[in-house]
Amino acid sequence: MTQQRILIWYRNDLRVHDREAIYEALGQKAEIIPVYCFDPRQFETTSFGFPKTGKFRAQFLVESVADLRASLQKLGSNLIVRQGLPAKIIPAIAEQLKVDQVYYSQEVTSEEKQVEKEVTKALSAHNIKTKSFWEATLYLLADLPFEISQIPELYTNFRKQVEKKSAIEEAIPAPKELTSLPEIDPGKIPTLEELGLETPQFDERAVLNFKGGESEALKRLQNYFWQEDCLREYKETRNGMLGANYSSKFSPWLALGCISPRYINDRVIQYETERVKNNSTYWLIFELIWRDFFRFIVAKHGNKVFKIEGLQGKAIPWKEDWKRFDLWREGKTGYPLIDANMQELAATGFMSNRGRQNVASFLTKNLGINWQMGAEWFESLLIDYDVCSNWGNWNYTAGVGNDARGFRYFNIPKQTKDYDPKGNYIKHWLPELAALPGALAREPGKLTTEEQQQYGVRLGVDYPRPIVDFFKSVKANEKIYQSAME
Ligand SMILES: Cc1cc2nc3c(=O)[nH]c(=O)nc-3n(C[C@H](O)[C@H](O)[C@H](O)COP(=O)(O)OP(=O)(O)OC[C@H]3O[C@@H](n4cnc5c(N)ncnc54)[C@H](O)[C@@H]3O)c2cc1C
Repeated sequence: MTQQRILIWYRNDLRVHDREAIYEALGQKAEIIPVYCFDPRQFETTSFGFPKTGKFRAQFLVESVADLRASLQKLGSNLIVRQGLPAKIIPAIAEQLKVDQVYYSQEVTSEEKQVEKEVTKALSAHNIKTKSFWEATLYLLADLPFEISQIPELYTNFRKQVEKKSAIEEAIPAPKELTSLPEIDPGKIPTLEELGLETPQFDERAVLNFKGGESEALKRLQNYFWQEDCLREYKETRNGMLGANYSSKFSPWLALGCISPRYINDRVIQYETERVKNNSTYWLIFELIWRDFFRFIVAKHGNKVFKIEGLQGKAIPWKEDWKRFDLWREGKTGYPLIDANMQELAATGFMSNRGRQNVASFLTKNLGINWQMGAEWFESLLIDYDVCSNWGNWNYTAGVGNDARGFRYFNIPKQTKDYDPKGNYIKHWLPELAALPGALAREPGKLTTEEQQQYGVRLGVDYPRPIVDFFKSVKANEKIYQSAME
């Protein structure tokens, strides 16, 4: 029997470790042909007109693809890279190289599934079969104790059941070697300019100088777990906003699949054996289960997560107030916690979880603005954009998700006091408030005329006055929300 050729169509799984598709292909002693397509549709604009893949994520993606190519070359193979529609490119390469099958990891959302459909259809015209694999989550689809249609609506119920009835599989090690590619032009990885984007400048104030790719992901884990020994106190530090180590910062690599959640789980177990096992070591897994939850719940509900009514189908009359939306996204609301976070996002493509919850709450519960605008703005800018985590979390914070608790808002002044008591984070991103003592930096809207003179911070000139009264705006939006519920 002649050796089979299997094309591995790379997508958001840019790694060589823990790839079931590769493992299965090698198990059949097949020759593998790794391919990645830069799909131009990913570089168009969102429905509100933002770049769909902004410069930060585009750079991270290009670096991840380059790193994958280098890893495959070290193993004796290579990565074929093309720019264009996968439904044209994959069949063309498959035909040229006489490929027998195409393997890929399955996605759950509409655009991604549509691409799968197009590719499968185009290949079937050439009599080439496809096979999809579920590879992105901690708990694999096949290991869940329920069908997708029966996924519990609430996170806690989901978590408790999977923890009790399912097991997390060990990560599959990377192959030791691969066969070389047949004669073919491997193709050039596009530059950002070729993708129609400018190269982002690194901002020294950023939490981390994120570099894309599997080797960088593994380095980050090594550093966070073993060198800096941060995992032991993750639960206590994870609500921070300043610096590299308050949380793992694994999200950008997880989003593009440069690191597998099961690999992280294996390393947590190792850490628990060799260093310490405590609430913090568990909590990292707890958070990864949130990530799983959003992917499974989106798989269950399909396109609803993108609709203005959200997973719960709540028809709330959201506003499309561009003037205020612009103040929000530029970080000029007069609420320093919001402004600092939005400026961090714009300057670096990253924001802490604490920040994301607060800015999303402010947009929806204080400004009453259509949460989809916020979700698309995040989609454009976030280096770690993950379709299920982003849209799922926005559903949740806007109060249209599968969260039974109704109208909930973040008390921004209190959050500022609790999570940035001295105003260090605020001053890091808003140097115009640096001269103020902590309590005033947290609420500059309360500066008296004398204090404005004393500290040289003029409200409305050096720093904006609050664009809304905090509690009045919450009340007004709560009323709108409640009326929509009647
Ligand atoms: C409005 C909003 C939008 C968000 N958009 C995204 C997104 O596009 N991509 C993304 O990866 N996360 C998103 N999150 C979740 C969370 O903010 C980030 O995963 C986290 O801040 C990333 O930093 P970290 O890797 O240091 O997290 P850690 O605290 O170290 O957590 C470890 C991992 O657990 C997962 N995780 C943690 N919290 C969540 C959560 N609430 N939901 C889902 N997974 C979680 C992530 O994969 C993360 O890398 C969003 C949250 C909100 C409130």
